[in-house]
Amino acid sequence: MTESSIFFYILLLVALAAGWALAQVSLKSKYRSNRSVNDFYNDYFVGLNYLLGDEPDEAIDTFISALEINDDTVETHLALGTLLRRRGKVDKAIKVHQSLLARSDLVREFSDLVQLELSNDYISAGLLDRAEHLAQELLRESDGVRPDALLQLTTIYQIEREWEQAITSVKALLEIPNFKKDESIKSLAAHFCCELAEQAISDEQPQQARDQIKRAFRFDRSSARASFLMAKLEQLTNNPQKAIKELLRIRHQHPHFISEIIGPMAECYRHSAKPDETIKFEKFLRECLDDRFRVSVLLKLVELVRKREGDTAAAELLSTRLSQHPSLKGTVALLQSHIDETDGKLHLDLKLIEDVLNKLSQSKPGYQCDHCGFETKNLYWQCSSCKKWDSVKPRLGLEGE
Ligand SMILES: [Zn+2]
Repeated sequence: MTESSIFFYILLLVALAAGWALAQVSLKSKYRSNRSVNDFYNDYFVGLNYLLGDEPDEAIDTFISALEINDDTVETHLALGTLLRRRGKVDKAIKVHQSLLARSDLVREFSDLVQLELSNDYISAGLLDRAEHLAQELLRESDGVRPDALLQLTTIYQIEREWEQAITSVKALLEIPNFKKDESIKSLAAHFCCELAEQAISDEQPQQARDQIKRAFRFDRSSARASFLMAKLEQLTNNPQKAIKELLRIRHQHPHFISEIIGPMAECYRHSAKPDETIKFEKFLRECLDDRFRVSVLLKLVELVRKREGDTAAAELLSTRLSQHPSLKGTVALLQSHIDETDGKLHLDLKLIEDVLNKLSQSKPGYQCDHCGFETKNLYWQCSSCKKWDSVKPRLGLEGE
């Protein structure tokens, strides 16, 4: 179902709720406003007309003006306010929620919900100070929505990149019984520690970085990002064996990142003082490749075979594996391995084909978010489109790995 059809059905449900609320008003026949039942019905059917005529914004406006705010209609107004925000009409959503909040007789349960929605409006409008103020107020004054207020603050501090404050919010959340074992919250906290670790690495503060990575592991022992950072730190501090250990952990715990560990792994084996490291690395690459095909693994293996056994053995390995797993990157490599065997016009034509295929391969995004489908050329721990963490993975198939 597309986003617009989901929106249409939500609005239709809201229209039904508005109709129900209208019926309640009519049945009670006691209004706290000066408007007649006919006025309400007229506005309601005008709203329905807009909805059926594919004019949802006008429909929302009409429903809001048709319904007096009272205990029966608060939830409908809340839903309409949320729809306005999702439609990008943040100013109108803020007005709807502010007018709800201005009512002195609003019960606590509803005023908390309205305050949360208003805080969401402020986030959408980029008014983060106001959003934070509302969420902090909720945290101080209402135990009923404590988890929601903490989640809201976590979102705000993420946007502001205030990682220590985000960690404080998440830690408070993890103290609430229902969240104590929530793995997604723990993983979030680990990412915030990794953000601080990355800052420390770029500030050349290895001990601070190590402390933050260890802190990340305390939240989430299987954090792939923390393992990558620890491996990087071990490499930077000349401990290639420890870095290899950390990279191997990623291979077992997060096999979808196998293509990402090949580069740092090769660096570690190159700098390791132990004998026979190249043979060990080659064995590791063959094991990985037998486990699951990844073109980055194959290309690194081909490079080692070329050094040890020469061009013919390398090309043979490449073509055998590619016949089972076609790959754009692999095809470019295969072409390159044969190009120097040719001359004259054929050589020039193959050079041209190589150039085109190379450009085509480089133009393809190497990563994709498995939540929203967003494609990117770099690996990000948080999807820049849907903002979900840990959802961006290397692309597989002909154009990917
Ligand atoms: Zn996404």
